Amino acid sequence: MTLAPRADVALMDGYHSPQVDAEVRLNTNESPMPPPEAWRRRLAGALAEVDWHRYPERSARQLRERIGALHGVGADQVFAANGSNEVLQTLCLAYGGADRTAAVFEPTYALHSHIARVTGTRVVVGERTDDFALEPTEAERLLDEAAPAITFLCSPNNPTGLVEPEATVRAVVGRAPGLVVVDEAYGQFAPWSALELLDDATPLVVTRTFSKTWSMAAARLGYLVGPAWLVAELDKVVLPYHLDSFKQLAGGMALDYTDEMEARVAQVVEERGRLVAAIAELDVNVWPSGANFVLFRPRSRPGEQVWSELLERSVLIRNCASWPRLEGCLRVTVGTRGEDDRFLSALAEVLG
Ligand code: PMP
Repeated sequence: MTLAPRADVALMDGYHSPQVDAEVRLNTNESPMPPPEAWRRRLAGALAEVDWHRYPERSARQLRERIGALHGVGADQVFAANGSNEVLQTLCLAYGGADRTAAVFEPTYALHSHIARVTGTRVVVGERTDDFALEPTEAERLLDEAAPAITFLCSPNNPTGLVEPEATVRAVVGRAPGLVVVDEAYGQFAPWSALELLDDATPLVVTRTFSKTWSMAAARLGYLVGPAWLVAELDKVVLPYHLDSFKQLAGGMALDYTDEMEARVAQVVEERGRLVAAIAELDVNVWPSGANFVLFRPRSRPGEQVWSELLERSVLIRNCASWPRLEGCLRVTVGTRGEDDRFLSALAEVLG
């Protein structure tokens, strides 16, 4: 016997990001480099000391203090969870839900609308231009018409790589009647951050993750910085003890290696420049990126086919070719120099 889930859930597609075996995996925007060896060793030692028979420290106070110190704010302005996806979900649980609306501007990160819907929040969609820019007039139209309880921005935007101009974020924050979430999962790769716009009187939060720049995708740790009164509401809806002791230790200890993380970011940004320049030499359209990935569209071959032929050469990238508004597009994560060379020579071969 099967059982019907909620009617709206029955209609949903799950989130699909195939984990296919390939020698070169450039499909999920992870860091190409592992975390520092010293972090790994210290963490292993510290884990031996954990009281595993006890629940973790419930408020993750130390971790929040340390993240707060990184951004020059107090622990009460930081909310941490199992990946920034869980941060987004907690925001939707607290500020979305039945009779409330969330606004997204497509194309953007698919999980914003997905998570909103899962939490019963109605989703309204604004459109970006053909070049994936968000016109302030379109943002204002949607905000005025739909009066969303939550407005999602993503900067740099996934999967386009575009950094939202500061003026656009300011315009949205100034006009939105509810909460504005700026998802900065790739924020450290970009030239500016909406963290600069935070203050206690503005319902604005910035979400970040340890998955990309901190080389810790396996740990599932993300956070937001925002007003203390808003963080207090999130603490009410998140499950008790949601952040396990391993994660609290791993995240706090990672912050001892900020210099190493920044060196990794600088290396990826430099390699991104090389990758974009090399892709632009081929028969493709390529968009400027402020993230650790690059969106491009083959001009003379269907994206779908190019993706498959790359995979035949054991190079896995993200296939966005059939996604609405992204017809024929592919997204490649910046890898190591060696991985990127493998990708570039396979792509040149496939494009003839
Ligand atoms: N936001 C964006 C824009 C992303 O691309 C991702 C990862 N794909 C996330 C959030 C989620 O990251 P995590 O849950 O690993 O922190």
